[in-house]
Amino acid sequence: MGMLVVLPMLAVLYGPRVDLLGPHAGVLPVLHFALEMFSVVVSLLVVITAFQSLDTYPSPRTNSLILVFTAVATLDFLHALSYSGMPPLLSPNGMPKAIFFWLSARTVELLGLVLLTSGLRLRGPRSAWLLLGIAASLLVAMLEPQARALQSALFVDGLGGMPLNARLGILLCLGYLLAAGWMARASGSDRPLFSALARASFILGIGELAFISWSSPTEAGVLLGHGYKVLAYVCIFRGIYLASMRRPYQEMVASRQRLARKEAEYRSLVDNLPIGLVQLDTQLRLCFASPAAEQSLGHPLAALQGRHIAGIMPAEAASKMMPGLLGALQGERMELDYALASATGEQLHHSVIAVPDRDGNEATRGVLVILQDTTERTRVQQQLDLATRETSELRAALDAHAIVAMTDHRGIITRVNDKFCQISQYSRQELIGSNHRIINSGRHSKTFFKEMWATIGRGRVWNGDVCNRAKDGSLYWVQTTIVPLLGDRGRPAQYIAIRADITQRKLAEKEARRLAYHDALTGLGNRRLMMEQLALAAERAQQMSGVGALAMIDLDHFKEINDTQGHPQGDSLLQQVAARLKEAARPDDVIVRLGGDEFCVLFHNLGATSKEAITRAADIGERMRNALAQPYRLGSTVLNVTASIGISMIHSDHDASELMQRADQALYKAKESGRNALQFFDPRLQAEMASRIGLLRDLRRAIEDDQLRLHYQPIVDVEMRVTGHEALLRWQHPTLGMVPPDVFIPLAEQINVILPFGIWVLVNACLQIKAWADDPLRSQWSVSVNVSARQLHDPEFVSSVETVLDRTGANPRCLRLELTESMLHTNLDAVIGKMQLLRERGVRFSLDDFGTGYSSLSYLRQLPVEQLKIDRSFVRDIQNSTDDMAIVKMILALATSMGVEVVAEGVENEAQHARLLSHGCQKFQGYLFGKPAELR
Ligand code: C2E
Ligand code: CA
Ligand code: CA
Repeated sequence: MGMLVVLPMLAVLYGPRVDLLGPHAGVLPVLHFALEMFSVVVSLLVVITAFQSLDTYPSPRTNSLILVFTAVATLDFLHALSYSGMPPLLSPNGMPKAIFFWLSARTVELLGLVLLTSGLRLRGPRSAWLLLGIAASLLVAMLEPQARALQSALFVDGLGGMPLNARLGILLCLGYLLAAGWMARASGSDRPLFSALARASFILGIGELAFISWSSPTEAGVLLGHGYKVLAYVCIFRGIYLASMRRPYQEMVASRQRLARKEAEYRSLVDNLPIGLVQLDTQLRLCFASPAAEQSLGHPLAALQGRHIAGIMPAEAASKMMPGLLGALQGERMELDYALASATGEQLHHSVIAVPDRDGNEATRGVLVILQDTTERTRVQQQLDLATRETSELRAALDAHAIVAMTDHRGIITRVNDKFCQISQYSRQELIGSNHRIINSGRHSKTFFKEMWATIGRGRVWNGDVCNRAKDGSLYWVQTTIVPLLGDRGRPAQYIAIRADITQRKLAEKEARRLAYHDALTGLGNRRLMMEQLALAAERAQQMSGVGALAMIDLDHFKEINDTQGHPQGDSLLQQVAARLKEAARPDDVIVRLGGDEFCVLFHNLGATSKEAITRAADIGERMRNALAQPYRLGSTVLNVTASIGISMIHSDHDASELMQRADQALYKAKESGRNALQFFDPRLQAEMASRIGLLRDLRRAIEDDQLRLHYQPIVDVEMRVTGHEALLRWQHPTLGMVPPDVFIPLAEQINVILPFGIWVLVNACLQIKAWADDPLRSQWSVSVNVSARQLHDPEFVSSVETVLDRTGANPRCLRLELTESMLHTNLDAVIGKMQLLRERGVRFSLDDFGTGYSSLSYLRQLPVEQLKIDRSFVRDIQNSTDDMAIVKMILALATSMGVEVVAEGVENEAQHARLLSHGCQKFQGYLFGKPAELR
């Protein structure tokens, strides 16, 4: 573009001078005027545009534009008027004058461009600068001759003979080009204006070269220079148009679009706002209501546009709102909450804010009502209040009655109540942030807490009694319930532990337990404790290798001591026994009193092997037996008491009662062996016991089941004639066969069936006598019947024998009752009395097993016996043993002196028979003469 401007100018400057108008030179003034008027009009347009620019957009250049272009327009107009050929107005025209105005106009124009580019702001009213522009130009016009002289003075000759105007033109050209360069660099919002002005300045600068040397105003160069000026002003007009008209218009369009957008946004905001907006005018008539407001009021408001608020709102609400609305009209802000009933009778809650609705000038044009339906919020709030109140009441109740702690998911304490602090003796600060381990008593196993965590970790409630330790070290018991509070992912986020103090209850339980397992007299445990301990011991024996034992201890003849010394002394003795047992046992052994004078000791872990354990048990048992056998001091008397001890080793397959039974059997053995002894339970004994128990059971039914039989063994005289029989009892057992009397008679005594057995034998023996009574050969035969000690000592003994004799009708003289020496050791007088009573009836007596009793023979004389039976143990070895022979001889001599007959028992061979015969024995009994057998 620059080259298009420069090239024509170069062509004109360096090409041949061409007169363009030639013969039409006359049109030059008009043509010139027209060309000049273009720039004048453009200048005026710039002034007018600047003058009319909006107040809201006060450009910093407005006044500069007005000043510069008013002056330029005026000076250019004067230049046009003063051009040669123009009609003279005030003073004669002429080229020099026109050139002066031209140069002045261009100088002002250049300075104006510099002023505009500098951005210097001229203050004050626009009209003032307009007038200043006109005034300055007119002043230049008035002082034109003087000014021209000044011009000439300033630019004196000397620059290569170049005329003054030419030199000014070059200066202007340089000025324009510099200004153009400066303006082209401008940026920002004014860039379109300045680039237009830069272009104009460039064109003006180049155009000025046309006036450096010219000879005729009609020359092509002069006309081209004016053309350049027109072109420059086209650029200026375009710049002004862009800056002052097009840009504001574009901005207006953009701001209108922005406004429309904002309005749409505002509308959607209002439409979607959960709060209702109601716009009222100064008369409180409805102007606008948002959809939310319509919804809150329950009916569409579009139809009610222009109606007074009192006619729209429910009467009650309207009357409440009215003072506030009036206040808002006075510029106040009003807030109000009210409740009202809906058409369906539902209670509704509204919250209302009324503020003055102001226009752009801050004048009140009505009231803006912000309406919010708070029904749901109020309901939720009320529920929340209720829940909060309930929660706090619950919490207060819980805090008043329970020990409460809260922890996070790791068990760190986050909250404790006063009761927790009280019972644990820790302050709240000490507890919060720490773990429950702070109160751990160490009384529970790790698995106890592991199981607890496993339960609550799974979100389940855990219950249990826990022993805790307070700060001072004391223990307390709490019944504990731990409730997990689940968090987001269903995992426990917190735990609440609710505890009740059960220390007193635990103590009471402990005391009750102690009493229940305690023997009041000795302070030892009792039978219940032993049974429990034994159950535990059996369990333990399964798990551990150590063998235990159970000892049963019974004082010998304690009943007699009790009877002779009195119960208080007996109690005192038992206490001393307890003390000695404790001392003799090991610390861990469990000692109890089962009752009476029976004690029981449980030994744990006596040794790894059974043998080792038995040795140990025997040692301790002996120690006990020995300790108990030491003399006891009861007041002033000193007593010697012994004890029998039975011990059973503990094996895992025994239950408690079985163990007790075994120890008891061992004790029985100890007693049987002569007391003050220690016996171990022997498995063989067990078998014996078992069969004994079976036998006892069967024995009770023996008579009923007709299992008793009587066998008869003959007794012969020196001539081998049968003089009588001994009746021997047999038990025909259904599975065991014939049971010998040595086995079942002691059992029968033990279970008290010996009396009916005795009667049975007696009855059958008498029936046999009766059966033989009519036989002349046998009517004199005697029947000997064995009498047991229990039978003899029975108070009914005599009468029962008499009754049997009466009932059977047997001859009493044929009945012989056999007694043993041992029966005569106690109550001899009573026995003699009984014997005499029966003798008076004719019944005779025999002393059986004679010689084994080693008793004093002095009593024999008092006894009403007629027969001695030499025990078969003396007869057995009569040939070899001189001792036995001596005894037999002595018995025979004694019998002769007392006048009683002698029967030798157990005679099995002729040698024995001959020996006895030779020493004067009169009667014999034995297999040699006949075995005991049933009579046919
Ligand atoms: P005992 O009164 O000394 O009875 C004699 C025992 O010697 C009988 O044994 C008899 O069978 C056995 N005897 C007889 N001759 C011979 C012989 O030559 N050689 C050997 N080795 N033994 C001979 P048994 O029947 O077994 O009776 C044992 C004991 O049972 C009796 O001893 C008696 O004390 C008791 N007894 C038997 N029957 C009764 C009864 O009805 N009532 C009571 N209270 N005791 C009875
Ligand atoms: Ca006998
Ligand atoms: Ca005998």
